[in-house]
Formats: sequence, C-alpha cells, structure tokens
Amino acid sequence: MEELDHNSVEEPRKRNFLEEIIEADLASGKVDSVMTRFPPEPNGYLHLGHAKSICLNFGLARQYGGKTNLRYDDTNPVKEDVEYVDAIKEDIQWLGFQWDKELYASDYFDQLYEWAEDLIRKGLAYVDDQTQEEIRLGRGTVDRPGTPSPYRDRSVEENLRLFREMKAGKYADGEKVLRAKIDMAHPNMMFRDPLLYRIKHASHHRTGDKWCIYPMYDFTHGQCDSIEHITHSICTLEFDVHRPLYDWFIEKLGIWPSHQYEFARLNLTYTLMSKRKLLELVQKGLVSGWDDPRMPTLCGVRRRGYTPEALKMFCEKIGVSKRDQLMDIQLLEWCVRQDLNARSNRYMVVQDPVKVTLTNWEPGKVEWFDCPLNPADPEGASRKVPFTGELLIERADFMEDAPKKFFRLKPGGEVRLKYTYIIKCEEVIKDADGKVVELKCTYDPTTRPGAGEWRSVKGTIHWVSTAYAQAVELRLYDRLFTLADMSAVPEDKDYKDFLNPASLVVTTGYAEPALLEDASGIAVQFERTGYFVKDKDSQPGKAVFNKTASLKDSYKPE
Ligand code: ATP
Ligand code: MG
Repeated sequence: MEELDHNSVEEPRKRNFLEEIIEADLASGKVDSVMTRFPPEPNGYLHLGHAKSICLNFGLARQYGGKTNLRYDDTNPVKEDVEYVDAIKEDIQWLGFQWDKELYASDYFDQLYEWAEDLIRKGLAYVDDQTQEEIRLGRGTVDRPGTPSPYRDRSVEENLRLFREMKAGKYADGEKVLRAKIDMAHPNMMFRDPLLYRIKHASHHRTGDKWCIYPMYDFTHGQCDSIEHITHSICTLEFDVHRPLYDWFIEKLGIWPSHQYEFARLNLTYTLMSKRKLLELVQKGLVSGWDDPRMPTLCGVRRRGYTPEALKMFCEKIGVSKRDQLMDIQLLEWCVRQDLNARSNRYMVVQDPVKVTLTNWEPGKVEWFDCPLNPADPEGASRKVPFTGELLIERADFMEDAPKKFFRLKPGGEVRLKYTYIIKCEEVIKDADGKVVELKCTYDPTTRPGAGEWRSVKGTIHWVSTAYAQAVELRLYDRLFTLADMSAVPEDKDYKDFLNPASLVVTTGYAEPALLEDASGIAVQFERTGYFVKDKDSQPGKAVFNKTASLKDSYKPE
C-alpha cells in the first residue's frame, strides 16, 4: 500500500482515465451511448467503498448522458438476503442516484444454463467428479503447471447428461462441478479450467428451490453485462486477472462484447471495509448494528450525520486511480465539515456546565434574542434564544489562574456571551472540595448588540439559560479502530484487537430550547463545539444527538 495520497485533491482536476476511455469510445463510435451497472452482492450493507463505486458508475453515466443498472450479484444463495436487497436500494437513493433497471443475476439463470450447455457442446466445458481439494491441488501453482482432471476428456454426450442430472438434483453438494476446458498450464491461473457451476441445495431468495446448481462469479458477471449491453463494466483492481476470462466467455459464446475496466478500491485509514468483518462486528455485538454511527456503512455514516453531498465531494476529491491507495479518513471528515459549515443550523449547547449568576439582572426577567440560524446567511431564518439571570457556561471557558493569553472568563475579567451582553466575573464560589460551582457576575446593559456603540472584548463564549435549558443525551464518537492501516494487522493479532475502547462516550448536554424544534433534517452545529445530528433513539422528552464531527481540525487537504 502506498503512502497517504493527497495528490488527487487539486482543483480543477484533469479527466480521469475512465473519462478518457469513455470519451475515446464515444468519439470513435465504438459505443454510441454509455451503459454502466452497479453490481452489489446482497450479502451485507453498503460501505464507503461502495459509495466510490456508485459515484463512479452512476456519475459517469450521468456525465455522458447514459444509464446505470442496479444489478444484484445474487449467485450465492447461502449468504444473501432480501434485508440487504432493500437496504442497498435505500442507500443508493440516499446518495442521490437512480438506476435505470433493477436486475438480478438470478434473472439470467436460465440463459446462463443454456450457455453452459453451449460450451459443453463446443467441447469447452466438462463435468468434474473430483473433490474441491483435488481440484485445488490439480491447479498447480504459478510456476508449476496443473494436472488435468481424470474426467477432463468425457464425451459431449456424457457431459450433457451429467450436467442435466446435476441440475435435476441427482447429486449432493460438492459431488460434481462443471468446469471450462481451457488450459491447465496457462500462466494465468484463472484459465486452468475454472469452475462454472457448483451444486448447492439451498433456497435462493428469488428463485426459491428451482435451482440446486449455481453459476460462479466468472461465468456470471460478464454474461450479465453482455445481456444488458453494459458498455463499461467498472470494477476494482483485484479483478484485472479475471478480465481475460471475462473476454474469453464473451468470445466463445459469441455474445455482445461488454468490456471490463479496473480502478483502485478505496481504503481508508482507521477503517475496515470488508463486509465479512463488518458482519462479524454486528453479530458479536461489538457495535450496535449495521447502522452504528461508528460503522463505515452508508447507513452508519448517515446516522452519524454525514451527508450525501459530503460523500460525493470526497469521492470527487480522491479521484480514480489505478494503484491501490490508503486515503486519509481526515479528508472525508474535512468534506463533512465543509458541507455542514455551509448549511447547518447553529445552536448553543453546554456540555460540562458551570453556573453563572448575574447579580444585577432583574429577578425573573427573560429577554429573547433573535439569533441567526446560520451566520453565513444573516438575512436568513433565525431562532429565539432566552436570556435570564442564571446561565450555564462551559467549565473550560472559565479559568481561575488564567495565563495572559486566556481570553475567556477569569476572575475580574470580561467576556461576551454570544449574541448578548458582556459579563464580568466578580466572585468565584467553590464547594468543600475546591471545585468551582458558581460564578457571580455582572452584566453590562450597554453592551447589548444593536444598542448604542459596540464595545468589544477578546473572548466570546456560548451559554444557555438554566431555566430554559433542555437536557439532551450526547453520544460522542471517535474512530472505531486505533490502527491507521487496517490492512497491516500483525499476523499474531486480530483486527478486533484494535478496537478503540473510547469510540463511544455518552454524556449530557444542556441545549437552548430551539434545538429541539430544528426541522432542517441534517446535522446542526453546536456553536464552538462540533456538528451533531439527532438520532432515531430520541424519545419525546429525551432527545439523543450523535456527534458527527468536531468543529475544527488542524487537518487541511493538499
Ligand atoms: P467486500 O469485500 O466489502 O465484501 P465486495 O467487493 O465483495 O466488497 P460487492 O457487493 O461485490 O462487494 O461490491 C459491489 C461493487 O462495489 C463491486 O463493483 C465492487 O468492486 C465495488 N466495491 C466494493 N468495495 C469497494 C471499495 N472498497 N472501493 C471501491 N469499490 C468497491
Ligand atoms: Mg463481491
């Protein structure tokens, strides 16, 4: 894996290699329109890596006036489920894309079966009775040719009969397979008589018990592409060794020539994106579910408050590469902040409060301040914030023995309470243990914004009125893993050894009342702290907010 790669974030960007290929194909007349597909296996929820594939497949088609099919690669009945089928659709639409046709590899089982018989008739496929282990050993190695199966030279008639019997359910799982007859000494291992069909007596989520033989990936994918006239079949790099086989089937079957192109899969620091491992985290209860806000799944980051806009910005910035890369998760977080900073509503929430009492405030008086929901849009909507004589501020915004450069509240010092008055700390009240429990302050009525001349002080802090504060549950999330490159888990360790024990901290926040009325539908900014989004666990009277991202970070892309 390469070093962290930020080279691809410059703007305006060059065309990527896929765009170059497509433009050349359109210009030469090799294709007259662009047809792509997104081919998830419905055996888990989509993750950030899939988002990149979705942005590419749907994005390229959109860019060149083409279409994209959603095609479920559902050839393994044992691991697949309709729960995943539905979740995948929801996630694609959430990202803002719409497929042309919703299709399933299983829609083509009859056609694929016909093509398998066609290969048998052409002498290009045979039924093998060897065990899985014998087949594996017979393949040889990269520097040693394989050994032909003793069943390799069966007659066409015998092969047809056996294959039909396989289909009819005469044999048990693993008893026989159908293999292509190509070259047991081929330098590309893929060509050493690859498996085409295996027996699996299992119910399929769509075809039920109609089939007990199922086609292998290599015998399925290219043919499905061909049936749908996919012009550019984009997949991840590890499939480049499959490409010649993809082409071989198309050639031998004499069908419409789809082509496959590979790009580097997305890997992110501190992140795992293997569905198998994500499933294990869910099943072992190490996270609360597929949509745990710490998960890299699309439903997880959605619950975390990441927006489709931020994900698309990220995919655009990382670009498309032909070499594997480990991208910095901070770039994604940066995109999230960029997007939310521009459009999220602002509210004040105090997380670790200390009480402020205004000794010169008229008892019982409430003053409502009109505060912009987004300061970038001062003419836009506002919210009303109540100000009273007893307030809460952040404990960290007060310091008793403050250094000179501390511009927030200190004994005898002044600070502005955001949107409102300047206050001065007159007295510090502590409990028996010496912990500060109350700050007696005075406010300067002449410093109300808009009332007379503006007097400025160096510090401005957020606050809430005690009488109006709403307690909300805050779920503070951090990275799920502590290892930056999760592909480098040492051999004597397990990836679960790198789970971050502090990835979730639950605390209480005290919010201005308008927060609970927010109807923006996206994450909001808790002023001076971070972005938070309301969670589905919220109940009437008990709102729950997930931390989406901190407000600032030293990270800058480039
Ligand atoms: P996983 O290894 O997480 O199980 P997969 O490749 O088996 O992923 P599929 O459902 O087969 O998952 O993937 C659907 C599409 O998404 C494929 O075209 C695949 O290449 C692409 N894809 C999967 N993971 C990534 C990734 N990390 N980056 C880019 N594309 C990906
Ligand atoms: Mg797969």
